[in-house]
Amino acid sequence: MNKQECIEQLQNLKAHCSDWGDEEPWIKDVKALEMAIKELNKTTPGVEVQEQFVGECDNCGYVNTINLQLPKHIVPKFCTQCGCETKYIKKAL
Ligand SMILES: [Zn+2]
Repeated sequence: MNKQECIEQLQNLKAHCSDWGDEEPWIKDVKALEMAIKELNKTTPGVEVQEQFVGECDNCGYVNTINLQLPKHIVPKFCTQCGCETKYIKKAL
């Protein structure tokens, strides 16, 4: 399940809870679900995949770890420590 599916699932659940009317426990459930949906939407500006690149610099030995959001198709090329060209390996998160 990706985040978008999760949001849809929560929205369905919220609609289901709303059907039960205005009784106290359900109002809180609906409120909680609304907040959860809002939070998920905030952290998901249409992007659901993140990739991590790891590159150990030959020059200074620094291990660079860079997280990139897709879809951007950018591969890091340089050491963030000394600026030398560094080979990065894509790591699945
Ligand atoms: Zn370096």
